[in-house]
Formats: sequence, C-alpha cells, structure tokens
Amino acid sequence: MWPTPLSGVGAGAVGPPCLRGAPLALNASQMDRYSRQLLLREIGGEGQERLLRASVLVVGAGGLGSPACLYLAAAGVGHLFVADGDRVELSNLQRQILHGCDRLDQPKAESAAVAIRALNPDIEVVPINQELDAASAPSLLERVDLVVDGSDNFPTRYLLNALCQQLHKPLVSGAVVGFSGQVATFRHGLDPSLPCYRCLHPLPPELGSEPTCVAVGVLGAVTGVVGSYLALESVKELLGLGSTLAGHLLLFDGLDGRFLRLRLPKRDDCPQCGGVSVSSSLPVG
Ligand SMILES: [Zn+2]
Repeated sequence: MWPTPLSGVGAGAVGPPCLRGAPLALNASQMDRYSRQLLLREIGGEGQERLLRASVLVVGAGGLGSPACLYLAAAGVGHLFVADGDRVELSNLQRQILHGCDRLDQPKAESAAVAIRALNPDIEVVPINQELDAASAPSLLERVDLVVDGSDNFPTRYLLNALCQQLHKPLVSGAVVGFSGQVATFRHGLDPSLPCYRCLHPLPPELGSEPTCVAVGVLGAVTGVVGSYLALESVKELLGLGSTLAGHLLLFDGLDGRFLRLRLPKRDDCPQCGGVSVSSSLPVG
C-alpha cells in the first residue's frame, strides 16, 4: 500500500517516485496558479508538491483523454506523457476538446501537447505519436507513477492491464458509448487481491457484438464527465486520498442522470490475474 495522505513526502525510497526526494518549494506563480486546491485540506502544499513531482501516462488523446489531460495539467501533475497514433479529424472536435480547427490533420499527441502547454507551461508534456505496443510500452510505463487508459480498443487495454500488473502501477480506466460510460481503477499490480481489467472483460467481444462510438455515436458531454472522472481518480490515487474506485466499477447513465457504484470481484479464472496462462489467451490484432 502507498503511504496515507501527506505522510510520506520526502520520506526516502518508499512508495512511487512522486513521493520521493526533497520537498519542492512552490514559487509565487505556482502559489497563485494552484491557490484553489492549495486551500483544500486534503491537498495543501505537500500534496501540490507530490502532484508536481508525479508522472502520468495518458493513453489516447481523444474523447476521454482530452478532459483527463486538461484537468491533470491544470492540477499541476508535473510530467504528462500523452500517447496517440492518430491525427486530428473534423469529426473529433465534437468531443475531443484538446484539439481545434487550427490543428486539423496534426498528430493528436502533438496537438494535445500544444493545448496542455498553453494551459499550464509549469509542467512537462511529452507527446508520443504512436500507438503503444508490447515493444514500446514497457519502457514508457516504467517511467510513470500511474496510467490513464482512454484508449478505444481491447488489445491496448489488455496490454496496459498486463503491464500495470507486471510493473506494479495503478491503472485508471474509462469507457463511453452513447449517453453512458464507466470508470474503474485497477490496483492489481500493487495488491494481488484486487481485480484487474480482465476480471471485468475476460475476453474481447465478438467483432460487431458491442456498440461502439463509431457505430452508434456518443455525446461529447458524456466523454467530458467520464474523462474528468479519470482525472479525479488519478489525483486521488497519486495523493492517496479518499475512497478510490479500486475494486469497484462506476457506471454513469447520462440520459437518466444516474451514477451507480458496483463492487467488482476478482475472478479466479481471470486470464490475466487468475493464474491461467496469459500468453495463450491474449487476443491478437
Ligand atoms: Zn483479473
């Protein structure tokens, strides 16, 4: 387990990298920029220093990654890695608020970096203009404290789930379609008694059997709700605040205006964390 809130800053080699090292001194500009969250008893100066020291990988600079990146950047998460292999298209702008008309056809990760730097030049942003794969992802994940999964495909989701287990990283994951969405935090890499993403989705759905945003559409504000929740969960994980969604699944129904929090059990027969061989059960493609 990570240290409880505000108990481990500068304590040495215990905990994730964002909790190590000498305390940072906030300058006057940072004191002003982050003043509203410095007022929060749960964050304060020590929490802000942790955020500035933290490294987060956001996978996907789309509908979910956009609000997640913007709120993480605004909160002063000090090192943001943004991975996306696509380019900005006109049809993205209805929900992918990192991008604008002036950056159509640019790589999304680069466009995201432009928006993030404009919002908060106080932090470092590293654009990665490619889809993550088994060759490129491990070295990247080793450098971060936490992974946000805003991707839109099962191979990427399964890869991040497996690597977060191997590398002991928390994984904050979201999905949307239509007017509904879901959020979950997976800490199986830090606590093997907790479920992983494949406890929720053991196998990928048959092609065409599940609705997708491309097939049935999605409202931009719904991606805003879920993507913002990814940022909230990430800040809580980084600072050890409150009751996170680890071991739970949060369902959002935007049409009926409801949230529902369910307990997510660990599956004994999970292909990733249940003891079954993973290599034989990973999907291809
Ligand atoms: Zn599992």
